[in-house]
Amino acid sequence: MRRTKDEIAKMRRAGKVVAEIHEKTRAVIAPGVTTLQIDKVARDVIEARGARSNFLGYNGFPAVICTSPNGMIVHGIPGSYVLKEGDIISIDAGAIIEGYHGDAAYTAAVGEISDQAALLLKVTEESLWKAIDVIRDGNRLNEIGRAVETHVKPYGFGIVREYVGHGIGTAMHESPQITNYWPGEPGPKMKVGNVFAVEPMINLGAPETVTLEDGWSVVTKDGSLSAHFEHTIVVGEDGPEVLTVSD
Ligand code: MG
Repeated sequence: MRRTKDEIAKMRRAGKVVAEIHEKTRAVIAPGVTTLQIDKVARDVIEARGARSNFLGYNGFPAVICTSPNGMIVHGIPGSYVLKEGDIISIDAGAIIEGYHGDAAYTAAVGEISDQAALLLKVTEESLWKAIDVIRDGNRLNEIGRAVETHVKPYGFGIVREYVGHGIGTAMHESPQITNYWPGEPGPKMKVGNVFAVEPMINLGAPETVTLEDGWSVVTKDGSLSAHFEHTIVVGEDGPEVLTVSD
């Protein structure tokens, strides 16, 4: 799907709401804070900006963000979990403005974290930016996954395969799917106006995942830490434009 300039303008506004959620949730992440308190911060931003939540009610999801600590990869439900020194916590957030969606995630350190955890966060975020750099008119879609894989592989971390990035626009999840590895063929050419949510999910250990009994929380099978970084990006005339950033 190629979005018009008007549509991109709305997605830019949705993206700025998501960026504000990131900033304001980051600011409260500390030992002693519950994941439900972080969700409340995100709700307040959505309300203040006149946006709607694309997470709340999605297949019955009960919150406006996903909060996934430590060995949880994605889709954690905000609740009574209390952050503690040395945790890592992934926050995935979205917003809708005039029917257009933004979606982005980050993983933060809670106080001091281990060198291994810090490296995982650094490499995962770097892999997202390496992927963003190949989002250009005429490049092949699956160069995105190749860029993630090329960056992560030397560290020996596990690249999650069951969950992937996606197109985004008037729905949060649109085609195409965007793997975080080279899927064996180059895929279609990217075109100006395409909008993608790119989201490497990287495990300190093995790539395998397990879904918990709540039907949402996805964790690493081996219990190792996992990091997740995501942005919504449009293929611009002059290269990638990241929509989920503030001015
Ligand atoms: Mg996403």
